[in-house]
Amino acid sequence: MDNWKRLAELMVEVQIIARDVKDEAVLSAMREVPRHVFVPEDCVSDAYIDRPLPLGEFQTISQPFIVARMTELLSVESGMKILEIGGGSGYQAAVLSYLGAVVWSLERVGELVARAKNNLAAADIKAHMIWKDGFEGYPEEAPYDRIIITAAVDEIAQTWMDQLTENGLLVAPVKVSDQVERLLLRKKNGEDKWFEYCRFVPLMHDIQKERLT
Ligand code: SAH
Repeated sequence: MDNWKRLAELMVEVQIIARDVKDEAVLSAMREVPRHVFVPEDCVSDAYIDRPLPLGEFQTISQPFIVARMTELLSVESGMKILEIGGGSGYQAAVLSYLGAVVWSLERVGELVARAKNNLAAADIKAHMIWKDGFEGYPEEAPYDRIIITAAVDEIAQTWMDQLTENGLLVAPVKVSDQVERLLLRKKNGEDKWFEYCRFVPLMHDIQKERLT
């Protein structure tokens, strides 16, 4: 992928700035993190298009704009501790890490954890990918300045809110009907703000017991 920087620049202009993401640090992260490294080999040529892409295991890597918007909503500052639930390819974790955050990312599918670790190593970006069900959060490293849920949920678990710092923020796609979610930004004090409608794969309750490889 020799021309990926040009494709990333176009992605940022046409898909992300055009939809009103303004945070310069987020825009740089979207330009600089090589998305093609995080998608499966047969999708590499589509890595920068305006779509979610299949990750295998019936999961998807989110559309670039949604990654950018959720990252912007988190107001990330360097040195913050962030918990991600739904690690997938490791791409969202990489974007957060590029912004200087220390990232713990939980993923229920063992095969995806293995691949995400490889992807992060290939991109030379550090984040902790952990094979674990996300419903209980990750008390081992709590409290977190930010929590990001990257799979659709019916509601925000109190366990997650309990793992936030006093000024903490959580962003999640919350179901508003059978087919559609909406991005919710919830402050530790319970204050809510709603943003874009979106579509995510669901957060699942049945943790995979065996590694697939
Ligand atoms: N943020 C990812 C994409 C997330 S897709 C990226 O940047 O690529 C949603 C992910 O949530 C899938 O990989 C799915 O396996 C995972 N998931 C679903 N239920 C989960 C659970 N209970 N705990 C942890 N991860 C879960």
